[in-house]
Amino acid sequence: MSDLKYWEARAAAAKPESRMFINGKFVDAASGETFDDISPRDQHLITKIAAGDTEDVNRAVAAAKTSFDSGVWSEMNPRDKKAIMLKWADLIRANQEELALLETLDVGKPISDSMNVDVMGAARTVQWYAEAIDKTYDEIAPAPRNALAMITREPLGVIGAVVPWNYPMIIASWKVAPALAMGNSVVLKPAEQSSLSAILLAKLASEAGMPDGVFNVVTGLGPAAGQALARHNDVAKLAFTGSGPTGRKMLQYAAESNMKQVALELGGKSPQVVLDDVADLDACASAIAWGIYYNAGQTCNAGSRLIVQGGIKEELFARVTKFLDTFKVGDPLDPATMMGPIVSKAQRDRVNHYLEMVGKNGERFVFGGETATGESNMIAPTLIDGVKHDSVLSQEEIFGPVLVALEAKDEAEALAMANGTEYGLAGSVWSGNIARAHNFARKLRAGTVWINTFDMSDVITPFGGFKGSGSGRDKSLHALENYSALKTTWVDLN
Ligand code: NAD
Repeated sequence: MSDLKYWEARAAAAKPESRMFINGKFVDAASGETFDDISPRDQHLITKIAAGDTEDVNRAVAAAKTSFDSGVWSEMNPRDKKAIMLKWADLIRANQEELALLETLDVGKPISDSMNVDVMGAARTVQWYAEAIDKTYDEIAPAPRNALAMITREPLGVIGAVVPWNYPMIIASWKVAPALAMGNSVVLKPAEQSSLSAILLAKLASEAGMPDGVFNVVTGLGPAAGQALARHNDVAKLAFTGSGPTGRKMLQYAAESNMKQVALELGGKSPQVVLDDVADLDACASAIAWGIYYNAGQTCNAGSRLIVQGGIKEELFARVTKFLDTFKVGDPLDPATMMGPIVSKAQRDRVNHYLEMVGKNGERFVFGGETATGESNMIAPTLIDGVKHDSVLSQEEIFGPVLVALEAKDEAEALAMANGTEYGLAGSVWSGNIARAHNFARKLRAGTVWINTFDMSDVITPFGGFKGSGSGRDKSLHALENYSALKTTWVDLN
């Protein structure tokens, strides 16, 4: 891949589109207002983004509804829809560098990750759902001979998608691609920290042949544009990924408007459990480190709690520490960088606040722990030992490169700790005895469980949470259920 100089030159020359995309056109906010898009890399102003509000949401939803009602997409021959979405996936790949650059400038993600994981992940998701379009069938019920009872899946209409900043393109594609594959029209509201890749994705969809009004992007702040979309009476479904408190508001907005369906993908405090018969401590140590420090810990399913069965903790700490010798932290535009800065000063200060708690109840830093100050958003990988299970550090989502370690006296206590938070997004267990690991995994209350690994994932499997981590499922063919309703049609054959 190109070097730091190449990416610096591209960043200096970047002139990203900053208007929203409604009904096939770039438009300013009706109010003419904008907000600043600041890069966490160096706090420079990347551009000013159109600050959408109720009027813009109304325009976008009206365009989406008109396109849906016209049948231009919802009733298009599946083969033709597939061809447009496949072309869109190709265009995403063809614009890999531009999309990756925008993502890295916006959120501070290492450019190598933006290139290889985020852009390619979004393209693969769009392609995967495109390919599903002409391969999913409806059902015929086992009715008596004198009747035909068909069960068909129908698109819902206008889907409102509100997404976060930590995996902007990937999470947008998890929602937009299955929604479009089912024949819906979509209005996407990206997070204010990460509008740029969403705007370009919409342009590329249009270039691929997506009819006007089918895929719209309204940029803007959450309480303004996000709320207006969530409260809109012509939105049939709200697909949300973000924090628990905002998720609660989404349910409230739906209840206070048209009782639209709501799918929530929320936070986590995922446990990485290491039992005392773990077979490969080095593999375990590197998975633990990647599990928390990837994307600077700003991952909903980050393995942010390390639960170790007594006896092997110090040895494990030593191996995680050694692994970090080769873990390059720094400028996200450097292709060698493995971890970049925290997305914003507000998020950095939130992480700082948790770091400042350490020591008040007997906790200690094994490594890291310095707060970030001034213009820097860099927080080093941090490991905190001596954390009590019921403490704030162990219970609340920090959303930074901070791992807390808990020691369990036996397997039962490890399980109680693993399940002992409000969340249930993911978790892992390490053991050399596969039956033991399996039995433990079965008892983990989480949407995704890994055995002797962490963070394996692909569009082929569903992703979502138990308990306070949400209710919806992104990815896999199951995500199509999010964006469709079952219709029963009886035919009298007498
Ligand atoms: P957030 O809830 O602050 O924002 C998410 C989105 O909601 C943004 O687009 C934002 O503009 C919008 N929003 C904020 N306030 C709103 C309001 N009052 N009305 C309508 N919209 C509003 O979350 P965040 O800080 O962007 O993202 C981090 C959170 O997302 C973490 O809790 C993380 O765990 C979670 N997350 C979950 C998953 C998952 O799949 N479960 C994936 C990624 C992130």
